[in-house]
Amino acid sequence: MELIPGAVQAIRRLTEAGLAVVLVTNQSGIARGLLSEADYLRVAERLDQVLHAFGVHVDATYYCPHHPDHSGPCDCRKPGTELYLRAVRELDVDPSASYYVGDKLSDVLPARALGGLGILVRTGYGAEVEPELPEDFLVADDVSGVVDLIIRDRGAPGR
Ligand SMILES: [Zn+2]
Repeated sequence: MELIPGAVQAIRRLTEAGLAVVLVTNQSGIARGLLSEADYLRVAERLDQVLHAFGVHVDATYYCPHHPDHSGPCDCRKPGTELYLRAVRELDVDPSASYYVGDKLSDVLPARALGGLGILVRTGYGAEVEPELPEDFLVADDVSGVVDLIIRDRGAPGR
């Protein structure tokens, strides 16, 4: 397992700013038979251990094991909102005061349905999909830049 550069520091800054950090991940490899649910859970547990070793943690992780072609449609595959709504219920977070971050449109589009702010990160697939990004979304070069935007936004009046 390899962490994205700056990931640990980004999580630390968000936690220190009083935000809950939630991972929402599409794991269609499970429906496609590329890995078992147990395999995925081992990876997720390993991630928790690695983050713990760095003295940070995510508050919750939610995953969709489905793929429409293999297991039919579902409400939890991003940009579906079911996993986010679970986080809202279980962690008592305000979806309209939340940030939806990732390197794919499906990571940021839930912001539109749930009322928060979507931020595309240019690392990973982000630079590739940026031309398709609607105007009301933000973009950052990397996860550190994402945290800068979030901290600035939280300090802005009216939010
Ligand atoms: Zn699903």
